[in-house]
Amino acid sequence: MEQFEGLTPAQTVERVSKLLNCPPTSAQVAEYLDKQDPLRPFRGEFFLPKVSELPTSDPSVTDGSLDCIYLVGNSLGLQPKLAPRYLQEELDKWAKTGVHGHTDGSRPWAWAENNLEQMMADVVGAKREEVALMNGLTVNLHLLLLSFYKPTASRHKILLESKAFPSDHYAVESQIRLRGFNPEESMRLVSPRPGEETLRTEDILDVIEKEGQSIAVVMFSGVQYYTGQLFDMAAITEAGHKKGCYVGFDCAHAAGNAVLKLHDWDVDFACWCSYKYLNSGAGGLAGAFIHEKHKDAIRPALMGWWGHDLKTRFNMNNVMELQPGVSGFRLSNQPILLVCPLQASLEVFHKAGMSSLRRKSLLLTGYLEYLILHYYSQDPSQPHRPYVHIITPSDPRQRGCQLSLCFSVPIRRVFQELEKRGVACDMREPSVLRVAPVPLYNSFSDVHRFIETLGGALKASCS
Ligand SMILES: *Cc1c(COP(=O)(O)O)cnc(C)c1O
Repeated sequence: MEQFEGLTPAQTVERVSKLLNCPPTSAQVAEYLDKQDPLRPFRGEFFLPKVSELPTSDPSVTDGSLDCIYLVGNSLGLQPKLAPRYLQEELDKWAKTGVHGHTDGSRPWAWAENNLEQMMADVVGAKREEVALMNGLTVNLHLLLLSFYKPTASRHKILLESKAFPSDHYAVESQIRLRGFNPEESMRLVSPRPGEETLRTEDILDVIEKEGQSIAVVMFSGVQYYTGQLFDMAAITEAGHKKGCYVGFDCAHAAGNAVLKLHDWDVDFACWCSYKYLNSGAGGLAGAFIHEKHKDAIRPALMGWWGHDLKTRFNMNNVMELQPGVSGFRLSNQPILLVCPLQASLEVFHKAGMSSLRRKSLLLTGYLEYLILHYYSQDPSQPHRPYVHIITPSDPRQRGCQLSLCFSVPIRRVFQELEKRGVACDMREPSVLRVAPVPLYNSFSDVHRFIETLGGALKASCS
């Protein structure tokens, strides 16, 4: 792909179209980009459902033997092919050796997740000691807030997006109540300007500047789940710190999607799940980050034996030797059956590398945007033609791989027609279709097929 270095996705597509002497919208362009893609082999490391295997597909409108068009890795990543093998190994070990599995084999259950921490740290731009793999995302958010949110009469607010993911909203709301404060006063929600879909960084920084003295914790998502907006985490963190706030991020939609530098950005804490871009399977083992500078000062509010130093953990003398930093926040022994699929996925990330993934992602999502703008922009001379409005920022630095699409026609029908045709994407109420070409396993041809299929789906849903 070096030949396209420095070009925008649109320029790349036009360059290829000239080279091949075909229109920029031709499927040949996608095929060419796929051939040039150094990450292409990674698609083979995942199980990709066939169209006929999706329960929503309709054999009368599409060929069931094709690969489905899977653009929903933002919701649930595909299964890595090594996952069932690793799981079977542990099931066999359990069957054959029982309790000895805790300490035996290549993946001793008593510390198996420790072997994944470095790979996970690389994905989020952290040091190994700054990362723990445990629990689910919302649980981790609670555990972190219990230590970072220490409201006082003058500094009691948590700053978050008005349209935060419901679980984050509830977590923050209940944490505020738990401390005896009133969410009406202590939950400071920031909304986009009237008529706008996404938040402006300047507006976020402005609230922090003006109200920072009363804000205990700034808590944003890394990538907004609904709009796909990637926040300027470095700038938000810096602004929060200037005012003496702790700054944390929910990286559910950012981990494995955007290049993160949690350590370098000086983020205080973060949490994320692993079943979206990180492909660990529904309910997979989640991650948590605490910056090493808090290693000794920030302690867990709740403790369990898994926070005890491994060397003496099993001495059972009831004298806590707390592991420093986020490791000390671990409570229970880890679910080995969740460690296996996460290992399978992180090994693929380790081979591919986040910076290569991001490089492809910029072109892949740029290509999707290019084709949407080409075919489905609003055209005043054709007032009855359905059109698509992309609410995700057009600036690639402000988004990951997902584009959130709004339609001029009712979305439910469009979504159903897409599903019938073997597209897996996701609809969010009230009006957004989220489409996420994932650089690890999606191809340029997937994007091209999606655009063609969308044409058919729109036609069918307007008839
Ligand atoms: C997916 C997601 C969650 C889900 O939380 P779980 O605890 O894993 O069920 C929470 N917050 C955000 C921002 C998400 O994107």
